[in-house]
Amino acid sequence: MRCPLKISSKRHVLCVFPAYTPSFGTFAHAFRLMYRVSAFMPPQGLLLIAAYLPETWPVRFIDENVAPANAADFAWADVVMVSGMHIQAPQMHDIAARAKAAGKLTVLGGASVSGAPELYPEYDYLHVGEIGDATDRLIACLDQSVTPPAAQRRFETSERLPLGDFPLPAYDLIRLDRYLIGSLQFSSGCPYRCEFCDIPALYGRQPRLKTARQITAELDAMMAQPSHPPVIYFVDDNFIGNRKAAREMLPYLIAWQRKHGYPLQFACEATLNLAKQSEILALMREAQFVTVFVGIETPDADALKAMRKEHNAALPMMEAVKTLNSYGLEVTSGIILGLDTDTADSEGRLKDFIDLSQIPILTINLLQALPKTPLWDRLQRDGRLIADDSGLESNVRFLRPYDEVVETWRRCIAYAYHPERLFARFAHQVDATYAHRMIVPASGKLTIPNLRAALVLAFNIVWRVGLLADYRRPFWRAVHHALRRGQIDAVLGIGFVAYHLIEFSREAVRGEQNASFYSARRREATLEASPLRKSA
Ligand code: SF4
Repeated sequence: MRCPLKISSKRHVLCVFPAYTPSFGTFAHAFRLMYRVSAFMPPQGLLLIAAYLPETWPVRFIDENVAPANAADFAWADVVMVSGMHIQAPQMHDIAARAKAAGKLTVLGGASVSGAPELYPEYDYLHVGEIGDATDRLIACLDQSVTPPAAQRRFETSERLPLGDFPLPAYDLIRLDRYLIGSLQFSSGCPYRCEFCDIPALYGRQPRLKTARQITAELDAMMAQPSHPPVIYFVDDNFIGNRKAAREMLPYLIAWQRKHGYPLQFACEATLNLAKQSEILALMREAQFVTVFVGIETPDADALKAMRKEHNAALPMMEAVKTLNSYGLEVTSGIILGLDTDTADSEGRLKDFIDLSQIPILTINLLQALPKTPLWDRLQRDGRLIADDSGLESNVRFLRPYDEVVETWRRCIAYAYHPERLFARFAHQVDATYAHRMIVPASGKLTIPNLRAALVLAFNIVWRVGLLADYRRPFWRAVHHALRRGQIDAVLGIGFVAYHLIEFSREAVRGEQNASFYSARRREATLEASPLRKSA
């Protein structure tokens, strides 16, 4: 649904989504191998707000990961609406400055301002919380006037709009072919309470849901564009936060895939106890889910207990990873270093975990305390929070020496993304995971844009990785292994993912990238970067 208010004015709304600071969970380097791709994933939240605005208000949508908003965009606007996560805070400040310089009213919403509104004193209006009654009050206020107020005003949601009433995100305002993967939201919220995570406080512990009809309508809208990403990421905090709902929705997804000739593949974030849900896993396999991001965090069971993430230890970790692989799901893992439970042995245990799990992609970050988390409260009580402008890689005063933690991170990254090891893990996936995916008709994928994109990608991979890179030998070994098993798709996937991971990790080891996703050490934002990890 759109905003139900009766509107009397016409407002030009410029929605600006900030560029991401480069972080480990990006595929920024891979974009140069691809046809037209220049950003990771469409911003769901701001697209949702754009769709909810009154029908009579013209909306211009700029994702600065694709291209920056220019002077003409700001001149056109009556109101500039911005949204983003903590990692984008410097860019949100920068957009406010540009909008102010153009004399425009500024509005900020999204995850970061909802967690820490005090960080953004320069915005005229703050939208705190999810879309809901605050959104309607904000729109009513904009309808009355777009003159910047004398003092900042906050609009705080107390009654959320049910997900079943969410409008179709304004995909028509962006070009999907500029993105590496598409995004889609089925649920919001997570029933767990991991110490470091702000999801339960921001989005609740009772997952709220869209209907299957909404999901398939969104897929139809994406398919209506001449070209779209081949993989759609369910951005839900935890895809199995409500297992029954996931189980009931998946058959609709399968039916949609069948009807359209299986044009898409899917990815999501979920807790590791997904491995116990054989019925859901079978449905996910049939629906063509190919990747699941799991916040494994640490291979240490005691550390999991300390961070209140015992559900990850519901069954032996390696067994769980193997089970997910056996349903064709490649696991991507989040890992945290700098935990209070870390010891001198933690590095060795993490390296063993990387080798044993054979997980190719691990986003290894330093612990960071986010506002509205139990971790934040505990560290504040203990006087262990460090100011954001410290220039350090984390806002946590670690129990182990800071330099040692950062050095451990560097050694772990170098270990994980040594080309020989990385390509060996991918070769393992060929047999352990990719071979278990359901073979489906190719008709839905055989489109001119898809073939063109595949050709460009194949050429660039052969050129940059297969011929120029110093790691071409292990690359060709992995390719040979995949081709012998008839997995041509896997060759392209391995090529671009490995290219990004190796290039980025080398920068990180040289000290040119941050050790933490949320690092207080500022890097320049690029037009190419965006995060992989959000939760689960
Ligand atoms: S880390 Fe994942 S499982 Fe834990 S509360 Fe956050 S979303 Fe839920």
